[in-house]
Amino acid sequence: MTAEDPAAKPANVPLFGLRPAPSAVRPRDPRPGISGLAPGELEAWMTANGHPAFRARQVLDAAWRGKQTTFAEIHTLPPAIREALDAAFRLDTMAETEILATDGGLTEKALHRLSDGLLIESVLMHYPARDLAGARDAAGARGANRERHTLCISSQAGCAVGCPFCATGELGMERDLETAEILDQVRNAQRRLTADGKRLTNIVFMGMGEPLLNLDRVLASIEALNDPVRFGLGARHITVSTSGVVPGIRRLTALGPQFTLAVSLHAARNPLRDVLVPLNRRWPVEEVVAAAREHAATTGRRVTYEMTMIDGINDTDGDADALAVLLRGDLAHVNLIPMNQVAHTPWTGTPIAVVERFAERVRAAGIAVTIRFNRGTEIGAACGQLAAEHAGQPTPIVVQRRRERIVAQSAAALRGERSDEPAPAGTGEGSG
Ligand code: SAH
Ligand code: SF4
Repeated sequence: MTAEDPAAKPANVPLFGLRPAPSAVRPRDPRPGISGLAPGELEAWMTANGHPAFRARQVLDAAWRGKQTTFAEIHTLPPAIREALDAAFRLDTMAETEILATDGGLTEKALHRLSDGLLIESVLMHYPARDLAGARDAAGARGANRERHTLCISSQAGCAVGCPFCATGELGMERDLETAEILDQVRNAQRRLTADGKRLTNIVFMGMGEPLLNLDRVLASIEALNDPVRFGLGARHITVSTSGVVPGIRRLTALGPQFTLAVSLHAARNPLRDVLVPLNRRWPVEEVVAAAREHAATTGRRVTYEMTMIDGINDTDGDADALAVLLRGDLAHVNLIPMNQVAHTPWTGTPIAVVERFAERVRAAGIAVTIRFNRGTEIGAACGQLAAEHAGQPTPIVVQRRRERIVAQSAAALRGERSDEPAPAGTGEGSG
């Protein structure tokens, strides 16, 4: 199915008519989103405003189980309460959402506009039961012949880390998402699934942004997702992916057994990882793996390592051997994912035969490896690509300069030289 296929387009939804928003175009709506409120907060507001506390339950039911997106649609509430709620809160922080389906309807990409005009994205992937024998979905979960519906969500608008193969990284950092903005991506997808009598089975923080640099809000949103009164999804069905924010990994470890931790590794050797994941200049690969190892040992949960495979850059036998040495004996699982083409890089994804060879070499060292493919490549469903496209295309000269910089940096890295550039701004320990 292609972007032009009318069958891919839900009725009455214009196909990505949202206007480009490279940066916030207006001030943020100061009204908090209902889904981001702490337990008891809405009851307290009701009481303080002279309304019965049980009205809060009706609002939260609509928010977490209903299909309403405005207070005016909650007909069980008296009009005066609806108006008072509307003055104080938002029922939905997604100001506009457009959906694009691909992979024969198995992948649905949602582009969401926030109150200040910024665009973020979430991707809903359907895994029919018959596809799952022995396969793993985006959450790395092995199919027990059960149907799955996995949602990939964003934690920030843009990202400060700046990985050169990532469209979000190229956008740069806009801002952290509010807790409600994280959760409303989930509610949006669940409303679409509910219409088909289905339920989200897995949630992965693998969309735009670095979740561990917005950790307080990511943790608050996971609490709401886990809470049986709110979303009610078990922690085991949630995966948080990080590019290697070591203090954040340690904080997660201190919380005990929770969700699955995925680490975006991409290279086992520092010179190349300095280029592919610029955060490596602050927390080098051995520190990241040590923190992940500690996490696995403390929680008993296997850590997933993600390797985006780039042709001729990080896919050689030497890279496979370095990875095997780095992870030998660990409670770990490696996912190899050929890079999805992005406009501003000169690189292409590793051919499948080379990915298989790499996988065999790492497996030979006793490490579990799965080869995965990005869903929705036709519509640019890799990390932040769609929102990046809508942020407007850089001029050809800007693209050319970026490509030259990336080629020069990676050539030096492949010669074993470490980058002398500082870690990206906005990625310090205090961030998030
Ligand atoms: N910032 C976090 C989570 C979001 S990125 C992190 O980096 O882990 C989620 C995943 O998308 C990462 O593993 C990243 O490497 C991958 N990704 C980004 N751009 C990609 C591309 N062009 N092709 C394939 N995977 C990509
Ligand atoms: Fe940020 Fe993750 Fe993209 Fe790197 S891969 S720029 S950390 S979103």
